[in-house]
Amino acid sequence: MEPHSDHHYQPGYTLVAAGIYQPSDVVFPEADLMKRGVNWIKDSVSAFDPENNRLQISSS
Ligand SMILES: Cc1cc2nc3c(=O)[nH]c(=O)nc-3n(C[C@H](O)[C@H](O)[C@H](O)COP(=O)(O)OP(=O)(O)OC[C@H]3O[C@@H](n4cnc5c(N)ncnc54)[C@H](O)[C@@H]3O)c2cc1C
Repeated sequence: MEPHSDHHYQPGYTLVAAGIYQPSDVVFPEADLMKRGVNWIKDSVSAFDPENNRLQISSS
């Protein structure tokens, strides 16, 4: 579950602020970071029910 298409390498933000990195240096396509075999549900969790091992997603 991940709603965003981009991953931000947050520690790199400090180098963007210092002018060493460009903003584009710390943003990567989320799809490139997904482990093979993962079924990516591109949506947000809106509620969870741990006792029944269930999630509710925003689009449902
Ligand atoms: C300037 C800066 C410097 C840092 N330096 C370091 C460092 O040197 N070393 C270090 O260890 N850490 C560092 N950190 C911290 C580190 O980047 C964070 O602790 C880490 O990214 C947190 O990972 P996380 O997966 O918990 O959260 P995140 O990286 O925020 O990921 C949470 C993910 O959950 C998704 N999400 C949110 N809500 C929902 C929802 N309802 N349903 C589905 N998905 C959802 C978001 O889209 C996001 O992709 C730094 C952070 C910053 C800002």
